Amino acid sequence: MMKMKRWISLLLCVLLCVFLFPTVSFAAGETYSVTYNLTGMTKVQGPASIEKGHSLDVELELEKGYLNPQLTIKVGDRELVKGNDYTVIGYDNVFISIAGSSITDDVTITAVAEGQQLSDNATIKDLSYYDAVKMKSISLTPAEIEQAATPEGVALTLSHGNDGIIINFFTTLDDPKAQITRDPITYIKNGKGTQIIEVTAEDGVTTKTYTLHFTVDSQHVWGEPTWVWADDYSSATATFTCQTDSSHTAAPDVTLTRETVKATCTEDGKIVYTATVSLDGKTYTDERVETLLKTGHEAGTEWHSDAAGHWIECTVCGKRLTQADHTFDWIMDKETGSKHEKCTVCGYVKAAEESPAAGTPAGGNQAGDAGAPETGDDSNIALWVAAMLAAGTTLTGTVLYRRKKKYSR
Ligand SMILES: [Zn+2]
Ligand SMILES: [Zn+2]
Ligand SMILES: [Zn+2]
Repeated sequence: MMKMKRWISLLLCVLLCVFLFPTVSFAAGETYSVTYNLTGMTKVQGPASIEKGHSLDVELELEKGYLNPQLTIKVGDRELVKGNDYTVIGYDNVFISIAGSSITDDVTITAVAEGQQLSDNATIKDLSYYDAVKMKSISLTPAEIEQAATPEGVALTLSHGNDGIIINFFTTLDDPKAQITRDPITYIKNGKGTQIIEVTAEDGVTTKTYTLHFTVDSQHVWGEPTWVWADDYSSATATFTCQTDSSHTAAPDVTLTRETVKATCTEDGKIVYTATVSLDGKTYTDERVETLLKTGHEAGTEWHSDAAGHWIECTVCGKRLTQADHTFDWIMDKETGSKHEKCTVCGYVKAAEESPAAGTPAGGNQAGDAGAPETGDDSNIALWVAAMLAAGTTLTGTVLYRRKKKYSR
């Protein structure tokens, strides 16, 4: 039985040794402190203590205005050797990795960065924006840029657009190390918009804010319309195209008027067609002219006459188209015994003259021979017949002449 007890004691000892010894050995002060002495740097990541055998990872960050960090790492009094005991990568953010085998005592990490004078210039030198409607770049004047940096900002007008427009900004900074911290693209809708551009100087502390108040001009810019007329000028259309955005068009109702100047026998006439259209308070007109050709004279069929001669007139304007002397012939009036001259062409009659036989009673058998020369002498009858024939011939000629005239316009 004693033998059995000894075995159990031995087993417990072994178990104690196996389970307790490691715990005891790590708990017995085998943790080292880690101290950071930083100048111009900030610790991003790194423990305050480290267990023996563990590697140590630390991340340090350069503070604004500091450059060129110098590292010294000590374990106890011993200075560690870069490359052997630890590695460093990075610049603004420095990553240090210390091998676990090198950590045999408390660790002191000393990092000293050089102080640097950083620019506090947050000024915009050039500022322009791209007007997508006008498709051109517009630069702000130096005075406008200066105004934009005041609290009230600068007011700018964009070329018009009915819909929102995107504006792209282009900036140059006085100090190229300064930074623009706002998205330089803005979308302006409903006619108004504000864009704020914030510039942070190199020192990271100084900032300057530029405020741009945009107003989008909503007025169309109409040029002259394009007129399209019907072939017979009975209708016309006027189409306007906006000069700042050709997708904007307008075709208001057109009012047509016509004014006629009649053609005369000798002058051309015309019809003037005037189309009128109004848009945004302005009136535009266009004209087309149709020529009415002169008609020429319309010769009448009646002879007109006076003591000097006879003529044919234009039935439209009354102009004398012909002018000729009368062709007189003697006409004897048997009843009165007088004779008168009558034009064989137009029938114009001169005042009657007394014949030598005036007042003598006419011969009974000669009565009814109207127009015969009343001489009272029957022996003259042959002369009278000859006169009659001559008169008849002339009359026929006259009729023919007049008919011909009628168709010779
Ligand atoms: Zn427009
Ligand atoms: Zn006429
Ligand atoms: Zn006549």
